[in-house]
Amino acid sequence: MAVDLHVHSSASDGTDAPDLVVAKAAGIGLTALALTDHDTLSGIPAARRAAAQFPIELISGVELSVDHADVKIHMLAYFLEPNPGPLQNRLEELRTGRTTRNRRIVERLNELGYPITMEDVLRQAAGDAVGRPHIADALVEAGAIEHRSEAFVDLLSDGGSAYVERDRLTAIDAIRLAGESGGVTSIAHPLTISADAATLRSIFEDLRDAGLAGIEAYYSEHTPAIRTQLANVAADLGLVATGGSDYHGLGKPDLQIGSGWGDLIVPDAALEELRQRRP
Ligand code: AMP
Ligand code: ZN
Ligand code: FE
Ligand code: FE
Repeated sequence: MAVDLHVHSSASDGTDAPDLVVAKAAGIGLTALALTDHDTLSGIPAARRAAAQFPIELISGVELSVDHADVKIHMLAYFLEPNPGPLQNRLEELRTGRTTRNRRIVERLNELGYPITMEDVLRQAAGDAVGRPHIADALVEAGAIEHRSEAFVDLLSDGGSAYVERDRLTAIDAIRLAGESGGVTSIAHPLTISADAATLRSIFEDLRDAGLAGIEAYYSEHTPAIRTQLANVAADLGLVATGGSDYHGLGKPDLQIGSGWGDLIVPDAALEELRQRRP
């Protein structure tokens, strides 16, 4: 059977409430689901209550955006309880950093002639991790664009005309804090870091030596060949090959929980191997 270890809910920038995400995952027969909202664990209690109604295991997780040397990496952290803890306590600071950044992005957009307000942005968000997707949704509501993704073509994409940096942890700190919190980490969608195999391998090795547990080999956007290659690299480096869909509900239209674009299968072994790495 299969699992999905990378899913977003309306606690961050997905459009389905946490309980609906769990019901959908159970409905297609997944044995486990990791809810990995950006910078927040606030969806976990509701997701856990929902999971108790179905034969599915709910893994508590989070997705972080971190710096490593001159690259940005998305890092998934698993088995973090929604309680105070070393990494958990930093999440609140990261969300405060988002607020500062969102205000600056809105100012830039206003200068560029898009008359949206922070109230418009906050109205798009159901949870406590507000970001660029919600700003994009406010632009949709204002009639400036048709869909969330259009805002990422130029305006809000990295280096785009309204782009603003935000505070991030370093990869090394995130790995250490996750470990101190009883969790384990995996690098999300590694191909967004670099397309160069040697560069990626050296980043994986550096971070493995810092305590990284896995890399996301089975990812929606990866071809079958890339999934196999990354799983082989993981095995070679003593890392776990993890995987997930990066489901966002209507935020990524047609991308399905569990199966991604239709051909994704994340083996149960990915979760069992991750579990073995818990500190
Ligand atoms: P933020 O967390 O505020 O930095 O926003 C980054 C998030 O925006 C990513 O995690 C994605 O969920 C979303 N995103 C990035 N690119 C796109 C895109 N082209 N279309 C829709 N959503 C996107
Ligand atoms: Zn997202
Ligand atoms: Fe990501
Ligand atoms: Fe994600």
